[in-house]
Amino acid sequence: MGTMDILGAKISDMDMVETVCALAAYIDVGRREETDRLHHIVTLNAEILYRAQTEPKLMEVINNAALVTADGSGIVLAADKLCGQKIERVTGIDLMTELCRRSSSCGWKVYLLGAAPGVAEAAAQNLIEQYGTQVVGWHDGYFTPEEQAWVIGEINEKKPDILFVGLGAPRQEFWITENKSKLRVPLAIGVGGCFDVISGNLQRAPKAFQKMGIEWLWRLLKEPWRYKRMMALPKFVLLVNREARRKKMLAAENQPQPKKKVRGK
Ligand code: UDP
Repeated sequence: MGTMDILGAKISDMDMVETVCALAAYIDVGRREETDRLHHIVTLNAEILYRAQTEPKLMEVINNAALVTADGSGIVLAADKLCGQKIERVTGIDLMTELCRRSSSCGWKVYLLGAAPGVAEAAAQNLIEQYGTQVVGWHDGYFTPEEQAWVIGEINEKKPDILFVGLGAPRQEFWITENKSKLRVPLAIGVGGCFDVISGNLQRAPKAFQKMGIEWLWRLLKEPWRYKRMMALPKFVLLVNREARRKKMLAAENQPQPKKKVRGK
């Protein structure tokens, strides 16, 4: 178990089971030692990694996270082409669902921050009904800078073990990083639009789309206004192919050349 360097980002090669174990350990350390250390988890997709190529601050935020999982099939493809590793997708929604499913048996309390007013609450109700998740609080993601101190105060007061932040990527990644020292939470995970899906407001792609690695196509059909952001996907694939060719050429150049035979010897 370790990390791979994919286009400058250190991405975990752990599958879902290993990832949940690693996160459980982060929570345990946070509880036992009562440290204020927050572990930031990024569920990374190709669109954000492509953006990070030209935004060094974003790349820094990604690489300062405790763990970066491969949220999208673009990252899985890049891991194969650039590092020769077959990894499993660990998406934000699957990770959130898995942690919430284990919440009551593991004694983990969760807080939901993000999405339009009413959505986080509806998601919380569904999680409580479906899995018996210990949801200790929620707040929408449309608070003003003046209200922010109150929101952070409330989160700290409710003492969650896991803070799910659904402000959209990369806004949520910057928000967690900027407020790391104020939040008394062992684990904060950026989960994008997951509350919209868990609340039932938005339908996730059918399993067949997920298996084929074309969940992005479903999102495009359901939310066509995304097309501009999604233009990053083909550009990401081109970049990965270019980088794979470059790596191959470098490897060929570094191969030891066969010794030339000297005549007469
Ligand atoms: N959102 C929010 N506050 C904001 C902007 C967005 O809470 O200031 C929420 C929005 O309501 C939605 C989520 O962030 O629930 C963004 O979802 P999207 O699917 O665009 O994010 P992605 O999964 O692509 O990161």
